[in-house]
Amino acid sequence: MAGIYIHIPFCKSRCIYCDFYSTTRLQDREEYVRCIELETALRAPAFAQQMANKGDILKTVYFGGGTPSMLCERHVDDILYSIRSSFYHTQIQEITLEANPGDLSEDKLRGLREAGINRLSLGVQSFQDTLLHRLSRRHNGAEAIAAVKAARKAGFENISIDLMYGLPEQTMAQWMADIEQAIQLDVEHVSAYCLTYEEGTPLYRMLQKGEVSELDEELCNRMQDTLEEELEKNGIKRYEISNYAKDGYQSKHNGSYWTGAPYLGLGAGAHSYDGAYRRQWNPDDIGAYMATIQNGQLPLEEEVLSEVDRYNEAVMLGLRTREGIHLNRFSEADRLMILTESASFLREGLLEQADEYIRATHAGTRILNIIIEALMK
Ligand code: SF4
Repeated sequence: MAGIYIHIPFCKSRCIYCDFYSTTRLQDREEYVRCIELETALRAPAFAQQMANKGDILKTVYFGGGTPSMLCERHVDDILYSIRSSFYHTQIQEITLEANPGDLSEDKLRGLREAGINRLSLGVQSFQDTLLHRLSRRHNGAEAIAAVKAARKAGFENISIDLMYGLPEQTMAQWMADIEQAIQLDVEHVSAYCLTYEEGTPLYRMLQKGEVSELDEELCNRMQDTLEEELEKNGIKRYEISNYAKDGYQSKHNGSYWTGAPYLGLGAGAHSYDGAYRRQWNPDDIGAYMATIQNGQLPLEEEVLSEVDRYNEAVMLGLRTREGIHLNRFSEADRLMILTESASFLREGLLEQADEYIRATHAGTRILNIIIEALMK
């Protein structure tokens, strides 16, 4: 299932834990959207060919960031128009837009729905004001709840929320309240991430100075277990290490990344994959990106993946999913290697094999990185 990712690198302000590329130069948005349109036209023929080589067709579009909800409805409409008019054959089923809860009025949501967005991914992170404030998020808990309700009113039937756990001084009671709130809001999809202290971020410096401390690992594990149990009881099942969904609401776009489908990444810092051996990416610099595109050039950098790279990636991404790695996707020699390296994990109940799949058990997800490393070349 081939897809297009559009990176919208604008944020009203920077959150202290974030190391994604983004800029607060909101005045560049209009020009940036024009560059995305130009890039779409420039790259569509090659991407159409890559999809054809894999017998694939464009099925998903994803606006990620940054904060895509910093775009107005017209910007989103323009970008989608340029995609639709650059590809002759598409079967677009899912168009996702990541949004900050504080940016969404009912009118804006209706405009986004009319532009074609049919899946909303809300960066809620928490419903607790103290925690949101600690992370320097712009919204509060009440705005997050209001955003989900307004999205429903505007006609969104596929809503995902992002939650974070392992936050400084976060208690189990606060986490339970977040889970209960998510369930009450009856969202179709939840992505949950444990906070990581990324080097170079203000939060990392606070950690170094002892101004915040990391949450106990045991408590983080319990938070993850509780989330899984509570969501599962309510029909929202884990299908990837960080993702949970009701039946039929798994992210189609992210699913393409895990199965090696081709994807086209548009915008500063966006990555693309041809579905075979080539990975390309645009510079993490909006000025350099726009100047090159406006000259009719592509600012792409590229790497050619070796067989070892492809093997490692398939193992890593496959083991993150509930389904696991599909042995039929590997050569005979690689299958043998996977089975040999998996043997001790299978014996210890950290991996399990079902038909042609090898997947991590609940206990295995605790040490997933160690398992992945052992199975990689
Ligand atoms: S809004 Fe998102 S992308 Fe922007 S700084 Fe905060 S976490 Fe990072």
